[in-house]
Amino acid sequence: MKRFIFFVLAVFLSLPLFSQVRGHINIPNLEGFITLKCDFHMHTVFSDGAVWPTVRVNEAYREGLDAISITEHIEHRPRLADVVGSHNRAYEVAQSTAQSRGIILIRGSEITRPMPPGHINAIFLTDSEALDKPDYMDALRAAKAQGAFIFWNHPGWGAQQPDTTLWFDIHTRLLEEGMLHGIEVVNDGNYYPEAHQWCLEKNLTIIGNSDAHDPMPVFAPGSYRPMTLVFARTATAEGIHEALKERRTAAFNNNNVIGKEVHLKELMDKALEKTIERTGNTVRIVFQNNSDLTFRISKANHDPRFGFRSFTIVPNGRYSFSFRADEGSRVEDANFIVDNFLVGPNKGMKYTIKF
Ligand code: ZN
Repeated sequence: MKRFIFFVLAVFLSLPLFSQVRGHINIPNLEGFITLKCDFHMHTVFSDGAVWPTVRVNEAYREGLDAISITEHIEHRPRLADVVGSHNRAYEVAQSTAQSRGIILIRGSEITRPMPPGHINAIFLTDSEALDKPDYMDALRAAKAQGAFIFWNHPGWGAQQPDTTLWFDIHTRLLEEGMLHGIEVVNDGNYYPEAHQWCLEKNLTIIGNSDAHDPMPVFAPGSYRPMTLVFARTATAEGIHEALKERRTAAFNNNNVIGKEVHLKELMDKALEKTIERTGNTVRIVFQNNSDLTFRISKANHDPRFGFRSFTIVPNGRYSFSFRADEGSRVEDANFIVDNFLVGPNKGMKYTIKF
């Protein structure tokens, strides 16, 4: 009997792991755009991953993602003796599950070469087979001919760039020939500040991906896989493609948001409700966070009005502080930095509160 009770309890406790409940990540929409949570880089048994393609769809469903791309290595298929099939097969196998789950599945592949040029993903392909070419330039030309969105993966990966994260002449050539549109500023939890700088300098799209090979872990509440936030006109594959080309993205990594200031400012304004109350000699400011975003905020300069250096507004939380100001006097603006909203390489976003 004891053993039976234990068994029932074990099954009951493990139910949340196996049940497929649609997850939801609450990140506000921008004016005229829908914020889609996307992961454009992952693997299955059709290259060097450890899961069947439909598992990737179910993981995305469970975690509250809107779109994924399974991007098998073209040149690296260590399981080919056991798992046969064309370079399109992972996409084809996952398609019906994606349809029934309402996950947008984007056909993609990873062109896998030594540095330079390194590993490059092409997504929005129509036929991955055409990328199987001895010369990587031919593979990239084939991707371009299909209208693909092409981005450089993990440019600072230690195995390929052991000392520094370098940009090579070949990347300039790819950029000039319209065969490089974005860069992974985040891959598998790693942030590459150099790549962030290149996105700003060269007007490339900021991308963040999991590059998952193993099954996704079950994340604790408030933790997420690395992903790209896409500010799309429509929640469709076409909408995502247009937004990527127009560089309306941010990388979301470990509760850091990495993107353009114009997007990050609006995200913050839409997520945070701010109330300022002034009574007598006291000014009180109250933040209500209506999102799953975290805000880690510190003072931008010495400001003796505030007896703290920094504060954190947790997801869906409330935070308030007060300070003294003589009744009827003008209250100077307060300057802060949102340390986890990166608008440049390791550079937090300025945030001014006007009273
Ligand atoms: Zn990869």
